[in-house]
Amino acid sequence: MSKNEGASAQGGVKHAVMNLTKAILLALALGLICGVAIHYLMPAGGLRDGLVEGVFYVIGQGFIRLLQMLVVPLVFCSIVCGAASIADLRTLGSVGIKALVWYLLTTAVAICIALSIGNLINPGLGVDMSSMVSSDVSSITENASNTSIADVLLNIIPKNPIGAMANGDMLPVIFFALMVGIVISLLKSRVETVHRFFDQFNEIMMKMTSMVMYVAPFGVFCLLARTFANIGFEAFLPMVKYMGGVLIALAVQCFVVYMILMVVFARINPLAWLKKFWSVMVFAFTTASSNATIPLNIETLDRKIGVDRTISSFTIPLGATINMDGTAIMQGVAVVFTAQLFGVPMGPVEYATVIATATLASIGTAGVPSVGLITLSMVFNSVGLPLEGIGLIMGIDRILDMCRTAVNITGDAVASTVIAKQEGYLDLDVLNDKGSDDGIEDYAEAL
Ligand code: ASP
Repeated sequence: MSKNEGASAQGGVKHAVMNLTKAILLALALGLICGVAIHYLMPAGGLRDGLVEGVFYVIGQGFIRLLQMLVVPLVFCSIVCGAASIADLRTLGSVGIKALVWYLLTTAVAICIALSIGNLINPGLGVDMSSMVSSDVSSITENASNTSIADVLLNIIPKNPIGAMANGDMLPVIFFALMVGIVISLLKSRVETVHRFFDQFNEIMMKMTSMVMYVAPFGVFCLLARTFANIGFEAFLPMVKYMGGVLIALAVQCFVVYMILMVVFARINPLAWLKKFWSVMVFAFTTASSNATIPLNIETLDRKIGVDRTISSFTIPLGATINMDGTAIMQGVAVVFTAQLFGVPMGPVEYATVIATATLASIGTAGVPSVGLITLSMVFNSVGLPLEGIGLIMGIDRILDMCRTAVNITGDAVASTVIAKQEGYLDLDVLNDKGSDDGIEDYAEAL
């Protein structure tokens, strides 16, 4: 092949993969339009059910399952490799402590923002309760009773690591993976084969992720179409103030707090960073799952922003498991909304309790759709709010779940970028390279 032919073939590949981000965005828009059209125009019955609960459900959930299939092996291998490659335990300790402190503090800030905005907007005042149909909260109350703070902390240590992996319990999996990685780095050449095995398995998982990304547009279309076919728009109306409060607080956290932190702690241009990262946010928005976004987040930080995998392979899965700023924001606004709706008085002690429990709830929230609603019951219980409040917001939660998940994973990525910069693991050449601004296409180029 001549040099020119080679270049044009490469251009062709680039062009083909260039379409992936656009295809996902297009699928998002088409899914929304199609879902709304079905909700309002298609008569209820067998055909509609077959389409929405048959075709859309199977393809959408199939896509989510493909992503979920990757999570445990990918997180395990990438943390083992990350920990093993930080030969110096002091660096690992400092990255770990920085990440933990950062995650806890940003979550506390997020709840304070949510409580303030909630009290400014007063989402629960003047709401006509009769127009809102309370959903069944029994599934939530069942889960609420067995989630205590002591359990959340104790469950970090797996009784059985294989059992934790089988159940997809991420925190114990991370704990065990970290220990394996640390021991590998201590034993060095004596366990070289095992080290290489994990490195190579990690490669396999990354490649598999790239392959799954190619069906993303179909999955995204079906997920969105089903959501809007089921919800339509009128369910949102009585909840407009509540939704507005959550969305404003999410925007403040994402576009003000994170960006200021990025400038102050890493001296990075936040707009340039966002331009490279936005496609990961879109992806998290469509899947509503932090876990499912882990592979794309690590890959984008590495290839577009220059965050070494040594850092991100540890901080991203950890963040996707314990750092849920967006979820904490929804919980803060939901507390104000429900307290106002049911006339429950809230004072400084109650608000302090909410900040503490919502921060812990964020640790206990798994990075999959809707779990934030379940841990919300823990927050409500702590200040004696009626769980019926959760039933009221359940109907419209999916759309907020999508938005808060985008903020959840952005928080993890900002922390990873700042820590990488401070520890000397950020490649500024990659960050400043304008040619790599779009996230998903280069990622899929690895195929
Ligand atoms: N869906 C969220 C996530 O994956 C968790 C939640 O708030 O329900 O980050």
